[in-house]
Amino acid sequence: MEELKITGIVLKSVNYGEKDKIITIFSLELGKVVATLKGVNSSNAKLKFASQVFCFAEFVLAKKSNGYVVTSVNLIDSFYDLTLDYDNFLMACALIELVELSLVDGETYENLFVLLLKSLKEITYNNTNTKLVITKFMLSLLKYMGYEIQFENCQRCNLPIMNKIYFDVISGDMLCENCKTYTSYEISKQEFAILRIINATKMENLKSIKSSNEVLLNLIKLLKLNLQERFNKKIKSLNFED
Ligand SMILES: [Zn+2]
Repeated sequence: MEELKITGIVLKSVNYGEKDKIITIFSLELGKVVATLKGVNSSNAKLKFASQVFCFAEFVLAKKSNGYVVTSVNLIDSFYDLTLDYDNFLMACALIELVELSLVDGETYENLFVLLLKSLKEITYNNTNTKLVITKFMLSLLKYMGYEIQFENCQRCNLPIMNKIYFDVISGDMLCENCKTYTSYEISKQEFAILRIINATKMENLKSIKSSNEVLLNLIKLLKLNLQERFNKKIKSLNFED
């Protein structure tokens, strides 16, 4: 029997029949892996913890004719504390959705894997403003996809942006007043500055950035529109009332 060991985070867990669950694991080694957890729906099942979203662990998988079956799990972190704060939990779920939208079967994503872990740690243990973490996560994700946002000059005419600044949610460009299109949203100088600082700051240093929720919410809204364009799919999470 072929066995393999992977390190990964559970993104999704759905019931399969009466007793089993199918889990989607985002692994460092293989990217997205779907595997069956046998018998975990009974109350005293040994591997029940591995059916929880956010479970970060080493998984040993056996390859069967119809896919992988989990044979043992060595827990590294359950990120249990995420479930104690509803807002944090929702933000962490949004990270999971963004990862799911990013993954293509058969591809690996080392940078994204590390980014997800760092983000979950910031939210769970460092009490960092989750909106800062989400903004950083989205900026990094765009960068890994090859669409890093540029903060020097207008991206169309290449002249310095002197007055009003616009972010184009289709192209992801920062534009001047002359180059803006109907998909460009004006952003304040403060929003521009904060976004630029977040972009240049490491995840582990985000905590030191001071910003109002209002600024961050607007930035998240714009980045969400841009990411939807990049994924060509709708993002269901990250809905905030105005
Ligand atoms: Zn321009």
